Amino acid sequence: MKNKKPSNKYTSHPKIRVNRTISQELFLDVMDELSESGDWDTLIDIINSLLRKTEPDHWLQGVLAGAYYGKGDFDLALQSINKAISICGGCPLTRWTCAQILFYNGEYVHALEVLNKLMCEPAREIHAGPCGSGSDCNLTLDRAEGVLNDSRFLTAACYQRLGYRCLYQYFLTVYKRYLAKGVGTCYAEENIEEMTGGEEL
Ligand SMILES: [Zn+2]
Repeated sequence: MKNKKPSNKYTSHPKIRVNRTISQELFLDVMDELSESGDWDTLIDIINSLLRKTEPDHWLQGVLAGAYYGKGDFDLALQSINKAISICGGCPLTRWTCAQILFYNGEYVHALEVLNKLMCEPAREIHAGPCGSGSDCNLTLDRAEGVLNDSRFLTAACYQRLGYRCLYQYFLTVYKRYLAKGVGTCYAEENIEEMTGGEEL
């Protein structure tokens, strides 16, 4: 299956320990290489083998969820992201990944429930919280702003799919406003086109 997973840019740069048998740099290289080549089965096998040897790890569990949805296996992606949420229910990155998986699974209302709560949290609080700077998720202030803005885009896409055109336009406009201010995003043009059917304002 073609790589349609937009979350790589977030999952590629955290300060993660993974475990003592593989360094974070090597793990991230392996992850990038396998996700770019679409070799999801190998990536899934590697992550599962790491998860068997580590303490419960919501970040790694979230990466596994991303690999499952990259492969197109939504049931296992949901199972995996729900496990990540059970380990760390407050993690903004995990909740955004969850909403993204729900979106691809056609569960737009459920995705909006997750996103509405997430977007209430100021970036400063995320950055100072347990998944903030220096944690495995490493949500620095910039990355926290990015997750919040990507949540705005995902919210827009959910409203579009549900036929709420005004809300779609509102959230897309706000998303673009933050982009213009220099806030980063993990969505490439092709993701945006795919998720909104190429519809522009
Ligand atoms: Zn986290």
